This record gives sequence, C-alpha cells and structure tokens, in this order.
Amino acid sequence: MANQTRVLVTGAGGFIGHHLVKSLAGQGYWVRGVDIKPPDYEETSAQEFELLDLRSWENCLRATRNIDEVYALAANMGGIGFIETNKGVIVRDNTLINIHSIEAANPNGVKRFLFTSSACVYPGYRQENADVVPLREEDAYPADAEDGYGWEKLYMERVCRHYREDFGLETRVVRFHNIYGPLGTYDGGREKSPAAMCRKIALASDGGQIEVWGDGHKIRSYCYIDDCVEGICRLMRSDHSDPLNLGTDRLVSINQLVDLVAAIAGKTIYRRHDLSKPQGVRGRNSDNTLLRQVLGWEPRISLEEGIARTYVFITGELRKAGRLPSATEQKVGV
Ligand code: NAD
Repeated sequence: MANQTRVLVTGAGGFIGHHLVKSLAGQGYWVRGVDIKPPDYEETSAQEFELLDLRSWENCLRATRNIDEVYALAANMGGIGFIETNKGVIVRDNTLINIHSIEAANPNGVKRFLFTSSACVYPGYRQENADVVPLREEDAYPADAEDGYGWEKLYMERVCRHYREDFGLETRVVRFHNIYGPLGTYDGGREKSPAAMCRKIALASDGGQIEVWGDGHKIRSYCYIDDCVEGICRLMRSDHSDPLNLGTDRLVSINQLVDLVAAIAGKTIYRRHDLSKPQGVRGRNSDNTLLRQVLGWEPRISLEEGIARTYVFITGELRKAGRLPSATEQKVGV
C-alpha cells in the first residue's frame, strides 16, 4: 500500500525535510523532494528532486503534479537571531509558499496535506518567565504569536482548517518545539541554540570561553530529529486534523545546555553573556498530553544522546572545513 502512495516533501533540501525524505523512501513511498537548494551535506534519497522556488504559483502546481500527499516544510526561517531581524522577508516568502502550495494541492488531486507549524504560535503572555507552564494546543488563543514568523504560522494553521472544512482536503498541522540533530545548520546566522553551542564549544579550547546570548536562564525543551520524523509520519497517518505539539517536555536552561555540550566535549568552558543579543521568550515547554493520546507515542531520545550525536556531526563538518585539526593530527599533537 505504502509504495503506491506518491508523496511530495517541500523543503527537502533543508534539515527536517532531508531526514523526512530518507525515512519515507525507506518506508517504501515514492518521494518527490522540492527545494530552492539541494541538501547541504549528503545526497537526497528521493526518487525525484526538483529545484523550484515555491513562492511561485506555477512552481507549486508543478511540484504537486501526480502527488497523493504533501508534507509542507519549505520556509524561509532560522534561529532567533534570524527571525527577529527578517520579519518582512519571512512573512512575504512563507505566506506565498504556503498559500500557493495548499491551493495547488486541489487541482492536482492531493488527498492529504501536512503543514509544519511552530511553538512560535504560542502567545508571548504565557511565556514571560522561566517558571513555565507547559503549553497545551488550545493555549495558542487568545492569540499573541511571535511577531512575523509566529503569526504567519498561526494564519496558515487556520488556512489548513478552512481548506479542510470547505474544500475537503485532509489537513494535518504539527507544531514543532526546537528540533535539533545531525545535518542541521550549525553556522552562518540561521542556526538554532543546540547547533550554535556545539559549534562554539567544538572551536573553543579546553578552559576557554564562549559567547552566550542573554543571561542563559531562558528555558526550552528540545526534540531530536529522529523523534521528529517519526512523529510527523504518525501524525500524517492519524485522523487528527487539529494542531498537535511535537516536542519533548524536558526543560533545560541555555546555561544547562552549554554545560551539557561541554561535558560531552570533555572540556571546561566558561560563559561570556551578551545581553544585547535577541533571546526570544523567557520560558517555553510542550504539553504532550494530546500527543500521547493521539499518537500513542512520544519522543524518546534523550537530550544527552541527541546532543552527543549532533556534536559528532558538527565536529566532523568543522574538520572537513579545516576549522578543526583532523582526528589524526589531534592524536599526534600537531
Ligand atoms: P530548514 O531551513 O533547514 O528547511 C527549510 C527549507 O525550505 C530550506 O531547505 C529552504 O531552502 C527551503 N525553502 C526556503 N524558501 C524556499 C522557496 N522559496 N522555495 C522552495 N524551498 C524553499 O528548516 P527546518 O528546520 O528543516 O524546518 C522545516 C519546517 O519546520 C519549516 O517550515 C520550519 O518553519 C518548521 N519548524 C522548524 C523548527 C525547528 O526547530 N527546526 C521549529 C518550528 C518549525
């Protein structure tokens, strides 16, 4: 059955999209990947991969031809430093991508459409201090989403509902909470905190100092990529059409995250806090009650395990780029 289903993954050149393509192809689906750029680190596993700018209506029509199910991941996005300073570009690009992708689904006979939303849809007034109450799906209203990126995601969640109710398209909406892991962006300004900490600590010497944005007391939960991909696949197969959290409910502060990466790296690291840098909301956690109920499952890979795998990936990339000595050079003390 699965191998007769033709699926489209948009954003297939990106972090989550690339992993999702690999998983779907491995499960026997016929997969078309589309992105404005190829994957950064390894070849795609998709049967077809097309370079298309999905802000364009014609390209969305082309991308969805002969497709049964769409996993809509394409977005112009990044970590807090990027989304706080590129609001116009983000709302313009992502609104065009999203509305054209879902509108193109109907003439092409697409049956299911999964949209990747974000914890950034939750209101600022529920995330003002580090003493966090986990966010339930219904807490997104009354709305006060992250200005720019969060509002655009919240708007598209509602578009999905209206297309389902009025046009009969089966829609699924997942709200990711800080997904991290190997093959994610780790440098250049779009990276998220786990990747940024791994890079900074990999490049620091033992006993050295790294810059940490803010006072380090902001609180987050993090979800490893393999769990994220499994959650997406389970949600697409479920009959749950309202938004669903996908994250872990284990809380860590940025300072604890730094200490964890330092321990994995086997280094003593000192923090230099830069209070002028953007930090986002003070505290955020995922309430997984509905996730457990709907999917009969929840993320299981520990932060220690996931960060260790991410650290290995990032040090490997830094070595390839000549920014760290090779493992052999290190052994002989060059
Ligand atoms: P990513 O940046 O690695 O992937 C997004 C992909 O979309 C990129 O490869 C990018 O090139 C592509 N894209 C951008 N503009 C495009 C265009 N005009 N046409 C075609 N492709 C275009 O990000 P990701 O972490 O893999 O995120 C995937 C989805 O999940 C996004 O919608 C993102 O908003 C959402 N999300 C991610 C997280 C997270 O923690 N990573 C959290 C919340 C939501």
